[in-house]
Amino acid sequence: MRAEIITIGDELLIGQVVDTNSAFMAEQLNNIGIELYQITSVHDDAAHIATAVMDALSRVDIVITTGGLGPTKDDITKHVLCELMGAKLIPDASVEAHVRNLYKDRPEVLNALTETQWLVPDNCKVLPNRVGSAPLMYWHTPEGKHLFSLPGVPYEMEAAMREQVLPVLQRESTEQITHRTIMVSGIPESKLALHIADFENALPDNIHLAYLPKNHTIRLRLSGYGVPAERVEELQRKLMALTKQWLIATEDKPLEVLIGEKLKAAGKTIATAESCTGGKLAMLLNKHAGSSAFYKGSVIAYSNEVKEHVLKVNKDYLEKYGAVSEQVVALMAYGVMKLLDTDYAIATSGVAGPDGGTPEKPVGTVWIAIANKQKVYTECLHLRGNRNAITDTAATLTLVRLLSQL
Ligand code: ATP
Repeated sequence: MRAEIITIGDELLIGQVVDTNSAFMAEQLNNIGIELYQITSVHDDAAHIATAVMDALSRVDIVITTGGLGPTKDDITKHVLCELMGAKLIPDASVEAHVRNLYKDRPEVLNALTETQWLVPDNCKVLPNRVGSAPLMYWHTPEGKHLFSLPGVPYEMEAAMREQVLPVLQRESTEQITHRTIMVSGIPESKLALHIADFENALPDNIHLAYLPKNHTIRLRLSGYGVPAERVEELQRKLMALTKQWLIATEDKPLEVLIGEKLKAAGKTIATAESCTGGKLAMLLNKHAGSSAFYKGSVIAYSNEVKEHVLKVNKDYLEKYGAVSEQVVALMAYGVMKLLDTDYAIATSGVAGPDGGTPEKPVGTVWIAIANKQKVYTECLHLRGNRNAITDTAATLTLVRLLSQL
């Protein structure tokens, strides 16, 4: 089955809001084996929305729109779809009960405008919107097409996709699709492709291999169409053996989640000491619920005073080697590991620019350290880009190296 996404809203076309909804939906559809054919963004304009939806329905089996479901005048998606599908708006008692319950502690929100939220087209199926007030609308047309209309607010759209849309589409899809992913790091994509060329060439037609570079890692995803999961898993094990010197994970999850899982499983804790990354490592490590089980805290040691007085980095070392040095970054890691009493620590110190570079340490020079009670690993990264790109990459690569060490 093929799908199209239509994102609706003037804000998307003037660069005010980045269309992250499409990326999320594309990934989710892809995971259940639905091919995404086209993504279209349109203004809050009735004719524009109607044309986009009709065109998409003529091309593919599944059309999902997001945005324009609110009660204000500029939110017109519901009215446009209602007309397009030959429906009229009628009150829906279950949506009304849901909206009243949602705002029971904020009665001031219930007014003539919010009351329009429980008006729904009379020929669609209304799917529950657990986290928001706009009704999720679903048409399964006599021609066998699926049309969904979801809210634009990303967390509402995500819940709607996960809880309502994907289960419907999974029931429709008769083919068994199995994805298995491994993650490697430290090898260029082209070299990896040559290394596993024989494996890739021997794959049967119904099992595909995709190279998905992301965050300085490469995810290799095997997708089996209409084959037993065991067969895909057997090939995954073969791929793991072939790439074992670069293998850092056997699942497709964010780096910080994989790190958290490993640390939690081992009952170990970690702390961070950050100079140039200024808290980016800390932000990543506490991003997901449950991180307190392994992540204790951070010292943002941007100035030499903090490195010396809080992390106890020897002043002589700071003067002799400079803050951006192997010696100092290793002592920063040891310092925070001792201060916060953890099993592991990671540290960064670098020249993020645009000023401060020297011939010996140009902008983009970043030392990283990963320490535990027995040893410390250090590496000098030579990064490119602006200040933000350099510090983002430094944080990501530190996590990549940490994951491969755990
Ligand atoms: P509401 O009931 O809040 O009005 P809605 O369904 O009408 O929801 P919009 O008004 O279109 O949705 O969008 C609400 C907010 O969601 C926007 O201000 C924007 O920040 C965000 N948003 C909308 N579309 C997208 C998108 N495609 N990607 C990322 N964010 C989006």
